[in-house]
Amino acid sequence: MDSKEIDVLESYISQNNLKITKQRRTVLKAFLECKNHISVEELYHTVLRVEPKIGLATVYRTLALLTKSGLALEMDFGDGQKRYESSYRTVHHDHMVCTECGKIIEFNHPLIEKYQEEIAKENSFKITSHKLDLFGHCLDCT
Ligand SMILES: [Zn+2]
Ligand SMILES: [Zn+2]
Repeated sequence: MDSKEIDVLESYISQNNLKITKQRRTVLKAFLECKNHISVEELYHTVLRVEPKIGLATVYRTLALLTKSGLALEMDFGDGQKRYESSYRTVHHDHMVCTECGKIIEFNHPLIEKYQEEIAKENSFKITSHKLDLFGHCLDCT
């Protein structure tokens, strides 16, 4: 596992008087190895293969911890489950979500990023983060 990420988690955990347990480490490791936009259920099933005794609640709580410590980005594409991706491994991107099959396409357009900055500047607004989700139908579903 990347030492930088375990360091971030460990310092967050000690600042908040929590304990870094073996199970939390396992969840972090599995999370860092998984694909983007994983749901809690999907991550739970991945973790179960190495840690058969782990409970779904532990996976839930650890993901919440990863989100609070800044290691995970939480997203909600309106399909009833939260999805997560690593904020360290991933370069900033936006999402197109197919409302039929759930396919997620990542994109990044320099002009969109630039115009957002310009609009913010015009409004004397400082952007600290943004999310852009486009919903519609992918090629297979049109
Ligand atoms: Zn589709
Ligand atoms: Zn993504």
